[in-house]
Amino acid sequence: MTGRILVVDDIPTNRMILRAKLAAAYYEVLQAENGKDAIAKAIEQQPDLILLDVMMPDMNGFQVCQALKSDRKTAHIPIIMVTALVNARDRLRGLECGADDFLSKPINDLALFSRVRNLLRAKFMLDELQLRDSTTLDLGLGSPPLSAEAALPEDGRVLLVPRDTPAGEQITSALSDHKCLEIQMVTNAEEAIDLASQAPPDVFVIHARLGQFGDGLRLVSHLRSRPRTRHAGLILIVPEGDQKTAAKGLDLGASDYIFDPIDSSELIVRLKSQIRRKQISDRLRDNVTDTLRLAVIDPLTGLYNRRYALQHLSKISARSAETGKSFALMILDLDNFKQVNDRHGHATGDLVLKEFSRRIQENLRGIDLVSRIGGEEFLVAMPDTSEAEARIASERLCRVIHKTAFPCPALTKGMQVTVSIGVVLGAPGEADVHHLLEQADQALYASKNDGRNTVTLYNSAAA
Ligand SMILES: [Mg+2]
Repeated sequence: MTGRILVVDDIPTNRMILRAKLAAAYYEVLQAENGKDAIAKAIEQQPDLILLDVMMPDMNGFQVCQALKSDRKTAHIPIIMVTALVNARDRLRGLECGADDFLSKPINDLALFSRVRNLLRAKFMLDELQLRDSTTLDLGLGSPPLSAEAALPEDGRVLLVPRDTPAGEQITSALSDHKCLEIQMVTNAEEAIDLASQAPPDVFVIHARLGQFGDGLRLVSHLRSRPRTRHAGLILIVPEGDQKTAAKGLDLGASDYIFDPIDSSELIVRLKSQIRRKQISDRLRDNVTDTLRLAVIDPLTGLYNRRYALQHLSKISARSAETGKSFALMILDLDNFKQVNDRHGHATGDLVLKEFSRRIQENLRGIDLVSRIGGEEFLVAMPDTSEAEARIASERLCRVIHKTAFPCPALTKGMQVTVSIGVVLGAPGEADVHHLLEQADQALYASKNDGRNTVTLYNSAAA
């Protein structure tokens, strides 16, 4: 995984050292020697990550970080602050400015590279989600665009897996003032997996050494591989100075780490940043899913639309070639539907379409696909179906429509509705779905000519 990294430091030698290390690992390196230069380059060249010196003349690192994080064009770029001395106050200040982490000089390679890999991975995932979001917008399928400043709820659910119960209680009480955080604690890995599979939290806080309770790193890797917990934030607690475990945790998929003994203000800032990140990616993901759903579902009836039905039909036909079993296609067309709209208005017409869809769905098998392919035209695709079964099913559908009147606000006795159906059988290996649709259409016209409210099988239509 490559990436473009901006190194900001006022001392040329420091920049050279970092540049050499990063370039040797095949990262593309940009350089800036002061805050102003850094901001300009960040906007213009859009790096994937920024390594930012704290002590600089004019603007210091905190000010630069704040400026970058408050500008829409650069807010999404992760920042690692680099400083000679890291004390708790500075660390907190940096995190509050929006920095993702701190590294102290001289830089430890293990800490540097594990952090860089981790932040780049998170950034690329978010970039990809944003791209999909914009693609669906470009297709005209989209919901409103997301802005970086979009208000997100701050509250989140946290699942704590501490080293032991007393340590966990200490953390819980330190966080108790923050009402927006809902903390749950479990004392072993199995319980964590159990609980997470029922109600996944926004963020896990897991100690790397769970002692007799299990291995924190193994738990991290397990949670990352499961669909329900894959996207949760994951903060690893590692013993003070244990860079090796921290690096391993980040590579296994932890999104952040904190040293034990824990500075609770630092934990809170890191928690909030993970919650926010999770909410942004959840929202992007939901947006994409919603949009895809909107693209294939008819909003009135909740049935699949033509686009989806045709795609699915090709799959049914391919599967039939494999299994050697025939499949059936039906086209259903409501009789005289135009008159319903003309006499009673479109609202009533919509009610009829919904009730019709409901009855059809209720009288077919789960594997049959019902879709609305036109105004009052529907398609049913039935896999693994013989001619006799197709005939029985279509006659049943015809009957359930005309047998009971449809509820209609204007008519106390309801409305009589009928449907004409054309059926065709797809032989195994019959790959031309469009040809089958034409045949079903011909059968449907035969039903219409036959006085409506009836079923025609394609073969008998030809006869
Ligand atoms: Mg400096």
